[in-house]
Amino acid sequence: MADCIFCMIANKEIPSNVVYEDDKIIVFHDLEPQAPVHVLIIPKKHIASLDEVQPEDAELLAHILGKVKEIAAMTGMDNGYRLVNNCGEDGMQTVKHLHFHLLGKRSMKWPPG
Ligand code: AMP
Ligand code: ZN
Repeated sequence: MADCIFCMIANKEIPSNVVYEDDKIIVFHDLEPQAPVHVLIIPKKHIASLDEVQPEDAELLAHILGKVKEIAAMTGMDNGYRLVNNCGEDGMQTVKHLHFHLLGKRSMKWPPG
């Protein structure tokens, strides 16, 4: 989708620090890391948010979740991690392309802010 920064990253129109990529997803380091390791997992397909996921996206969502442990291992998250999705206004979503934050290499707090 035009004017979507994460579509531009997926299409290599703007640079990112990629840690993993396949035909369905791309994973890159967040520009403003909130943990020693903070990567974003995004589908290459433009989906605006978790609210916009359709039944036909089930396989894609399963693929994303199934890759998490592999991405955690390859980025050194050997003692656990946190997977976060911010959705909509109350969720403080700022980029309107579905993404999951994967954070690790420090002890997290609960509840989140
Ligand atoms: P959210 O607030 O959940 O929508 O998360 C958006 C995330 O995208 C933030 O953590 C930003 O730091 C990150 N971000 C925005 N632009 C870029 C970019 N060009 N490359 C990497 N991360 C980005
Ligand atoms: Zn997009």
